Amino acid sequence: MEKIGTNIFGLMRRILIWTSSKFPLLYISVYSNLFCVAKNEPWLSTFYRHSQFPILHSELSLLIMSTPKTVAFHTLGCKLNFSETSAIARQFEGAGYGAIKFQEGADIYVINTCSVTDFADRKCRKVVRQALRHSPNAFVVVTGCYAQLKPEEISEIPGVDLVLGAAEKFRILDYIDDLSKAPDKGMVQAGDIKEANSFTNAFSFGDRTRSFLKVQDGCDYKCSFCTIPLARGKSRSDTVEQVVENAKKIAEMGVREIVLTGVNLGDFGNGTAVIEGVKPKKEAMFIDLIKELDQVEGIDRFRISSIEPNLCTDEVIEFVAESNRFVPHFHIPLQSGNNKQLKAMRRRYKRELYADRVAKIKTLMPHCCIGVDVIVGFPGETDEDFKETYQFLNDLDISYLHVFTYSERPNTLAAEMEEVVPVHIRRERNEMLRILSEKKKRFFYEQFIGQERTVLFEKHKDKNLMSGFTDNYLKIELPYNPELINELGKVELAAINEGGNFEIGSLVGV
Ligand code: SF4
Repeated sequence: MEKIGTNIFGLMRRILIWTSSKFPLLYISVYSNLFCVAKNEPWLSTFYRHSQFPILHSELSLLIMSTPKTVAFHTLGCKLNFSETSAIARQFEGAGYGAIKFQEGADIYVINTCSVTDFADRKCRKVVRQALRHSPNAFVVVTGCYAQLKPEEISEIPGVDLVLGAAEKFRILDYIDDLSKAPDKGMVQAGDIKEANSFTNAFSFGDRTRSFLKVQDGCDYKCSFCTIPLARGKSRSDTVEQVVENAKKIAEMGVREIVLTGVNLGDFGNGTAVIEGVKPKKEAMFIDLIKELDQVEGIDRFRISSIEPNLCTDEVIEFVAESNRFVPHFHIPLQSGNNKQLKAMRRRYKRELYADRVAKIKTLMPHCCIGVDVIVGFPGETDEDFKETYQFLNDLDISYLHVFTYSERPNTLAAEMEEVVPVHIRRERNEMLRILSEKKKRFFYEQFIGQERTVLFEKHKDKNLMSGFTDNYLKIELPYNPELINELGKVELAAINEGGNFEIGSLVGV
């Protein structure tokens, strides 16, 4: 057997010698391709080592080694994760790596995970498998919230080479050196989340239409269902100066809209204690940040991704109502419309405060879009409790719901609670609120038929179409026109199409 192998190697070597003398360019091409394949095939790599072309071998190796390594990314979860993936991508590019699309077969894959989504584990495994299908020998790094919560579990996933926790993810380049696949299981670098107290700024950059700008991270609240504080640590924020500088950079890149993101955005500058009257004001809070950002030239729109009802102060609402750049759109988590449930969830407000915030917004901005997060099936939620939530939402002047079916998360207080709601009832309640959301959205949209509003046009996944959002988050769809992409235009809103989005009657002006 060994003799046959030696003969094959000898024969191949003779072919290469002959080719190199007759067709040197062809030889180099074959040789370099062989080198690439040899990296992945043990039998070829054995031949390669025995090829006895030391000079060419080392020259070509150098040539190939100096070829930039490629990296591809996949993000699961929220806008914050998207902004952070972009920041990590910029680090790689700054170090000379080439960022390519996921399906193009990269040398390194970085998967930024989320712990909030259901089946986080299954989703993570699936993405790892997909990455290895595109590039069987790729070096796979998993980071993000799920990686912080379950580092050991992730390191056992076949194909994972490195797991980085919350504090380590922005030092990713320090942990990547020779890119050898982990022989057994992935290496874990995830420290105690209590030590994650530095803030790393980040913003996404994709199609120039909008950028997610991270201004705050972590959360000091202790909602009984939530693992985010365990995955992201204490509440901490960027400085106003740094956020403004990033906003200017984003404007220079030609981006028209910035979405401010954070885990508990309204707590910027740890404003909760000040707003709750526990501490005097010492540093800049969310209201100070948005006032400064409103001055940034070059950004047409700022959107607040989500703000807790207790932090959505009169001052913030009044400022947005007056601002030219902050758009009339709020997303305010409610979670339950029943005070008993809110208490069990350890939320920091009662439903009355929530209703008051909505009324204040609508008084000042009747056209404002208000989105609401709700959880159904939280432990102890009786039929009566749910009906109360349903009725509360039905009566509120809101525009859409994001409905979450409660699911138990390890290491949370809620997971230990009794009076567990059967899963089929959770699903039924979810469906009821989903239908309510459709009705709310339709009602909100219908109020604007025949009106003119400004739209930021952007690409659509269907190449024949383009889409866009008005300032108050009405989605429009119209035939593709490349000249309008990334432009703001005033449109007349004509009718609601089958997909539930607006068609425009006419473009009034760009
Ligand atoms: S406010 Fe509550 S739900 Fe939101 S991140 Fe903090 S702990 Fe989680």
